[in-house]
Amino acid sequence: MKPVCVLGNGQLGRMLRQAGEPLGIAVFPVGLDAEPEAVPYQQSVITAEIERWPETPLTKELALHNAFINRDIFPRLADRFPQKSLFDSLGLATAPWASLDAKAQWPELFATLGDFLIVKRRTGGYDGRGQWRVSPGNEANLPDEIYGNCIVEQGIPFDAEVSVIGARNRAGECVFYPITHNLHQEGILRTSVAFPNANHSQQQQAQAMLSAVMNELDYVGVMAMECFVVGDKLLINELAPRVHNSGHWTQNGASISQFELHLRAILDLPMPSPTVFNPSVMVNLIGTELNQQWLSLPLVHLHWYEKDVRPVRKVGHLNLTHSCPTELADSLNSLVELLPNEYKSGIDWAKEKLNWYYSQ
Ligand code: ATP
Ligand code: MG
Repeated sequence: MKPVCVLGNGQLGRMLRQAGEPLGIAVFPVGLDAEPEAVPYQQSVITAEIERWPETPLTKELALHNAFINRDIFPRLADRFPQKSLFDSLGLATAPWASLDAKAQWPELFATLGDFLIVKRRTGGYDGRGQWRVSPGNEANLPDEIYGNCIVEQGIPFDAEVSVIGARNRAGECVFYPITHNLHQEGILRTSVAFPNANHSQQQQAQAMLSAVMNELDYVGVMAMECFVVGDKLLINELAPRVHNSGHWTQNGASISQFELHLRAILDLPMPSPTVFNPSVMVNLIGTELNQQWLSLPLVHLHWYEKDVRPVRKVGHLNLTHSCPTELADSLNSLVELLPNEYKSGIDWAKEKLNWYYSQ
């Protein structure tokens, strides 16, 4: 098996490395400051866990490497302007938007996009950072430096948020997981829930949209697409050209995890459609110290990233999966007792989703 070098050494690179191990695939997550000589990149297939990177001696070398999968796609998707333009050119539904270049645009923006707008930095935002909610009257409070570097989007009064994670190989074959239901609070993903059988119409729409994007780009690997659900329609929020937080449940809830699927796709290995047997819940650990008591619950799979714990920082996640809804709900009830109070609403939301699934 060819080794894989991952640009970036955060938790996604770590989990790619973990997924490679049983298959005998050596995965080397590399920090951007690494010396090129220290990385076995010449013989490797190159992938990335981040979407943009500064010029360093290593990234300069990699920029020229012809085994760097999707190299030319990252700049198109890491900037919201070309990314949103791509949706428009493919006729894919997305929140109406415009480029934000000057203060003088505001009256027209409110007239065309409405009174609830979201300004988003074109590059570099994550977990809701680099965004401002704007309504008539408070546009004057925005910092001057955003003009020329942001887009503005219509605020969507969505019913729910979902994501779909798929993979495409070099032959153009695509496979998908069932859509994931996501709860974000203050712009950051708190909890995800996925079921073996997704709503048929949502699944079909999501797969058609993500395939259109992956085919247009001739993309290879795992890609995630976040969507707003409005009635029975999906609107694309954004794409991530990599493994994604809302797919972490697949580590314990699917026959092939998103991390393994990405490695299979980029290494041209067989890539059957992953099977999902049971409902799964993923709880993001955000700014919370490790509690060994979590391990007293038999359904809890702890994934700890070994990062310094800081407020609003993702430091790990917990996956739970089971065929029996009451077992899953009981475990979630016990888990709530072992987590700070702010986790309760996300876990209640997951329990509601499970109830809804079993009541259908
Ligand atoms: P990520 O961490 O997923 O990369 P991000 O910081 O890049 O997130 P978005 O996904 O664009 O940002 O936004 C974060 C969250 O803010 C969304 O999941 C959604 O809850 C809310 N949001 C974003 N855009 C809109 C919109 N146009 N209308 C309503 N809510 C929105
Ligand atoms: Mg997002």
